[in-house]
Amino acid sequence: MAEIQRRKTPTVKIGPVRLGWEAPVVVQSMTNTDTADAKATIEQAAALAQAGSELVRVTVNNEEAAAAVPQIVEGLEQRGLRVPIVGDFHYNGHILLKKFPAAARALAKYRINPGNVSIGRKDDDNFRTMVECAVENEKPVRIGVNWGSLDQSLLARLMDENSKRPAPQPTREVMIEAMIASALESAAAAERYGLGHDKIILSAKVSGVRDLIDVYTRLAARCDYPLHLGLTEAGMGVKGLVASTAGLAPLLLAGIGDTIRVSLTPKPGGDRAEEVQAAQQILQSLSIRSFMPQVTSCPGCGRTTSTYFQELAEQIQNYLRASMPAWRKQYPGVEELRLAVMGCVVNGPGESKHANLGISLPGAFEEPKAPVYIDGKLATTLRGETIVADFQQILDEYVASHYGRQASRDEPAGTR
Ligand code: SF4
Repeated sequence: MAEIQRRKTPTVKIGPVRLGWEAPVVVQSMTNTDTADAKATIEQAAALAQAGSELVRVTVNNEEAAAAVPQIVEGLEQRGLRVPIVGDFHYNGHILLKKFPAAARALAKYRINPGNVSIGRKDDDNFRTMVECAVENEKPVRIGVNWGSLDQSLLARLMDENSKRPAPQPTREVMIEAMIASALESAAAAERYGLGHDKIILSAKVSGVRDLIDVYTRLAARCDYPLHLGLTEAGMGVKGLVASTAGLAPLLLAGIGDTIRVSLTPKPGGDRAEEVQAAQQILQSLSIRSFMPQVTSCPGCGRTTSTYFQELAEQIQNYLRASMPAWRKQYPGVEELRLAVMGCVVNGPGESKHANLGISLPGAFEEPKAPVYIDGKLATTLRGETIVADFQQILDEYVASHYGRQASRDEPAGTR
């Protein structure tokens, strides 16, 4: 497998998290609670952090929200969660950061959207005020350009220049150039106002996959700031997951992107942490980072006439997810474990041999037995009503004997 050559960037420190070329690609997420409701925001931020979000962003849209920020950070710390909280500001960030210095101190990073702080206007120094707050509090800043709120004066200027060209570019090209120019000109202004080069992260988010790839490919070639990747509005369910993967994968494989967010629209009452799982799964599918054991399961077909095989695959997946918080601490390296749960013997044993642990359930017309492979070798054959429980026990024993301190005492590292 060819190694991914990450684009070189400075390393930005966000609380205890390091972001950039020399650090792993960071997973982040955003709450959708009312930030002023500190209790609800602590609950959701804790759930996101426990799901593996390494940065959590909260909207800071009014005085009540800004006043709640220190309480939110403290509440998370009381739960033993030191996840950096990022403040998302629009329109009034310059007022809120000045009026609520405790919030300015408690936040680990500020997100500024240059499209709505009137950057560059003679009568307006909102952007400058926010940058000066970041300098004073030694905080990094994400300059987050969004095509839905692109700096209109900049876009008008570029449109005007384009129209005067002998061969004007299509509007899409001008829009992409305006997004890149907005990010780069804002970063240059932030540095003029005293922000360190290693305190700046850029993003330029759109909602179309091809647009995203074009914007980031060009932006990456024109600066060395770390980049935050993501579709601005990915959408719901399968559409959101596929669009995010299609957009992020080519960039990540090209070494572009230092932190990602998957902006899924949750179902009403849905689990916000799904966006964290999606981001982790994108990185793990690309072999960029490992977060949890991977289960390979076949789609099933006419040979699997019952739902038994689907239930087993789901139970194993749920068991892994439930076990991981404890396993992660107890058994370092367990996130690399590979399992196969297959519907019948057509591809079952072959796929099982490629996994650390594999099971092939009996197909509809096969003898009711389930061969289990451990590290490529047939280890046992399970029968009867307790196949799931028996397989989980084999899984537990494998994890305990192959990962963590006990395993390192028992076996030479090379055998694991
Ligand atoms: S492994 Fe068996 S059950 Fe699964 S898709 Fe292939 S033939 Fe069908």
